[in-house]
Amino acid sequence: MRITRLTAGIGLAAVAVLGLTACNSGSPTVGGGATEEGGDALWEVATDVSLEGSPTYDRMVERDKVVIGVKNDQPGLGYEDAVSGERTGFDVDIARWIAASLGFDESQIEYQTIPSANREQAIVNGDIDYYVGTYSITDSRKQQIDFAGPYFITGQGLLVAADDDSITGPDDLAGKVVCSVTGSTPLQRIRDEYAPGDTVENDTYSQCVEQLKQGQVDAITTDEAILAGYVALEPDALKIAGEPFSEERYGVGLPKGDTVLKDHINALLTDGGDVWTSLFDTHLAPAGISGEQPSVDQ
Ligand code: GLU
Repeated sequence: MRITRLTAGIGLAAVAVLGLTACNSGSPTVGGGATEEGGDALWEVATDVSLEGSPTYDRMVERDKVVIGVKNDQPGLGYEDAVSGERTGFDVDIARWIAASLGFDESQIEYQTIPSANREQAIVNGDIDYYVGTYSITDSRKQQIDFAGPYFITGQGLLVAADDDSITGPDDLAGKVVCSVTGSTPLQRIRDEYAPGDTVENDTYSQCVEQLKQGQVDAITTDEAILAGYVALEPDALKIAGEPFSEERYGVGLPKGDTVLKDHINALLTDGGDVWTSLFDTHLAPAGISGEQPSVDQ
């Protein structure tokens, strides 16, 4: 692949007109459209990109590879097939789209699965170039890193066993054991603003789902978009209880101070409404998630 340095405008235009050409993505059992076979390249790769002054981009070009932090256990968002190793989901495709806009195809992407608690450090250390994985934009995280976006907005919710009618919202958690993930905003909020009987924290939400199914915890709290992915896989066992009770604005985590890269991704998101809609329709709508593309404000 050749990366020539013209203007960002040309690079963006090249990606914007090509957009989503084929789709072999999506978690294996969420959504019919997500399981289509036969797609070749997901994205056409931009060949004319200028990110003059972006140290992160220079690093990618230097090693001829982009290193992206993602999740691997969130169906519809960031998922890795245990057998094939294929990465699928809305977040993963947002990450791929960004990589393509920078001139990198799938063979030049290295994915690193990084749990919620380790995201800022991975970015600060330079272990990854950017992170796309249900990563809420918060002021405290912005002390260490920057965000592009938001590219999606959801809200904190509760997941319970399908036959449990005792929990209908966060005010019903007295005496209940609630599971969430270390370093996540929902764990902090449920402790700070509500009064669960107890909390259990894990590295990943799939560990919480196992504990819920075994009756070791009464509820899981995190973003509804994540919870909906688990319900779509096991609708007879799991359900979402009540309405969302926060606003979680997903951003692309970036090294602090790389405003050139941030502006590039914000422009891609802003110009790429059709691509965003294709990804939303493929990955999130089948799980019953509704939403519109937000305006970027970072
Ligand atoms: N969006 C929330 C956060 O960034 C929860 C999901 C997650 O842990 O990734 O903390």
